[in-house]
Amino acid sequence: MKDSILVINCGSSSLKFAILANAGQETLMEGIAEQLGSNTSTISFKYQGEKHQKKLAVGSHEFAVKEIKAWLDLHPKVNDLLVGIGHRIVHGGETFNQSVLINQEVINGIQECANLAPLHSPAHLKGIDISLALFPGLPQAAVFDTSFHQSLSKEQFLYPIPMDLYRDYHFRKYGFHGTSYRYISQRLAQVAKGSDQQGVLVAHLGNGASTCAINKGKSSDTSMGITPLEGLMMGTRSGSLDPSLLTFIMKAKHLSADEALDILNKKSGLLGVSELSNDCRTLEEAMESGDSKAKLALDMFAVRTAKHLASVATTLDSIDHLVFTGGIGENSSYLRQGICNHLKALNIGINSNLNENAPRGEILNISAKSNNTNVWIIPTNEELMIALDTISLIQH
Ligand code: ADP
Repeated sequence: MKDSILVINCGSSSLKFAILANAGQETLMEGIAEQLGSNTSTISFKYQGEKHQKKLAVGSHEFAVKEIKAWLDLHPKVNDLLVGIGHRIVHGGETFNQSVLINQEVINGIQECANLAPLHSPAHLKGIDISLALFPGLPQAAVFDTSFHQSLSKEQFLYPIPMDLYRDYHFRKYGFHGTSYRYISQRLAQVAKGSDQQGVLVAHLGNGASTCAINKGKSSDTSMGITPLEGLMMGTRSGSLDPSLLTFIMKAKHLSADEALDILNKKSGLLGVSELSNDCRTLEEAMESGDSKAKLALDMFAVRTAKHLASVATTLDSIDHLVFTGGIGENSSYLRQGICNHLKALNIGINSNLNENAPRGEILNISAKSNNTNVWIIPTNEELMIALDTISLIQH
């Protein structure tokens, strides 16, 4: 069937892409352009089990999309199946509470939210511009990381600050990873019938990490805020801390606000505490060889994740399910166990044997029999969600 979607995910210095076929179930081709903005940028294509990498003549988002178009022209069988393009957009502000087909009004709307995501929005807009120019006949959709959380109540999304800052500048909690949470909510409803009428906690733990409470299928609270810095300790982000610390760092190190913020975004978290790496797997290996700083970083990550799960759980009537997802949530039995060890007061527990022997990439219920909450590992799939949204928008 002709229903392939090109999914484009423009980061500030990278562009990930994939072509999904058969209602998103099959990845025909995938790749990444990296180090955009430098003269060492590369693009790689993985197709039929083989990976090809080449240097990009110009390290720009525009040129990367041109290379994807050139690849498609060389592979007419794949090209012929393409019916649309789905763009991942980090910030939809208060304007977008669902995915939309892209037109000038949508582009203006994304532009208006750009001050809230200054690193990502310009890259998204470049990706959209060049895709519209190179694929003029194809419908294109925008899928927002923030839109799933537009269901939060005012009490949850407002910061307790002077309200003119919200009214005049839209300073409030937005939350991210929404596409992943929406996917998990729908996938869970397939394996645990009725969960879309229950209370669900999700920990999306990757290099970026957050928690979300989903009440009857709708996000009721999430740990990230106006930016992804709030909430959990992450790979390189500190997560929540006393905001006064920013001015202490500025004064102590003679830095500007942006430079101090850079420390909290890029040099903190697992990397800052371990003084070794932001990568969970590297830290687990180091811990096994006796590195106490790596262990401290991982244990702090577990404690903080548990705290933010408990925090968002206050918006639920009951905690019927807890789902672990993202690279860490899906693969680190050490952290899943560590997190659940701190949730005993909520009567959440896991079966250590199931947890430790969970097969990679599969859905598994790892709950301990004596506990009320079903604890799951569910691999996330944001690309699939973007492809399905795009197909559904095209068909309507
Ligand atoms: P991103 O936020 O960049 O999408 P991912 O969801 O891919 O991140 O998650 C990356 C994290 O998952 C890294 O910290 C990595 O070490 C961790 N990870 C992946 N596989 C494993 C594993 N087998 N054991 C422990 N951690 C893992």
